[in-house]
Amino acid sequence: MRQSVSILLFILLAAGIGIFTSCNDDDGLNIFTLEEDRQFGRDFDQEIRNNDEFDVLDEAQYSSAYGHLNRIKNDLLGSDDLNHREDFDWKARIIKNDTVLNAFAVPGGYMYFYTGLIRYLDNEAQFAGVMAHEMAHVDKRHTTQRMTKIYGFQFLTGLLLGEDPDKWAEIAADLALGLGQLQFSRNDEYEADEFAVKYTADTDLYPKGVAGFFIKLEDEENRPKIPEFLSTHPSPDNRIEQIDAVWKDIDSPTGDKSPERYREFKNALPE
Ligand SMILES: [Zn+2]
Repeated sequence: MRQSVSILLFILLAAGIGIFTSCNDDDGLNIFTLEEDRQFGRDFDQEIRNNDEFDVLDEAQYSSAYGHLNRIKNDLLGSDDLNHREDFDWKARIIKNDTVLNAFAVPGGYMYFYTGLIRYLDNEAQFAGVMAHEMAHVDKRHTTQRMTKIYGFQFLTGLLLGEDPDKWAEIAADLALGLGQLQFSRNDEYEADEFAVKYTADTDLYPKGVAGFFIKLEDEENRPKIPEFLSTHPSPDNRIEQIDAVWKDIDSPTGDKSPERYREFKNALPE
């Protein structure tokens, strides 16, 4: 997965981070504007689709699989708990690789789901939970907040003013060596879980499906190693507990798990 790293670096160098702090309803300082979040996502998406390391399934060719993916996405986007459903692009894509149990999202609403993850899960409620979790990271703008926090406003501004052009190379090296710094914080993960339950509660699906992924992962002994930055699921023990607490807190809507419809989704994936 080294290639993911170079994609990220390319984006960081090409993104052209603005010098204005965006003023919005989100928590935490963020040097990126909403437009820059979108541009970040669009650049990343173009890069990943042009990169041979990633077999992104074509939407027209796999229209049935994407039909399921987009239906679930649109259901979740119907939730009024999202702040930026009108602001971001919200594109979901499937990456063909049956050995990877992962999903990730980048700023601006671009979300990627590996066929390995889709096949691994048992029902639509579990899958919607993962997607809702990724959506929450995007909607809460965790990645660009994190970048602002790690590199700092003054530092990023100085770079943009051209005070030290070599620093970009240094950042790239730091990123390559210590991507862990950019990993989502524990609080980011809790917040993403919390809102995933809330978004899913606004659909017909079972909101505690959000925890299904973690329950299944805990059972797996030999799960594949995931690069740190893209590893959005460190799965601490009390995460399942918190999901349960949020679920109870919002009056325990039940909803469907939809295993049959999910089987159709899986069957629409390439062999
Ligand atoms: Zn996460």
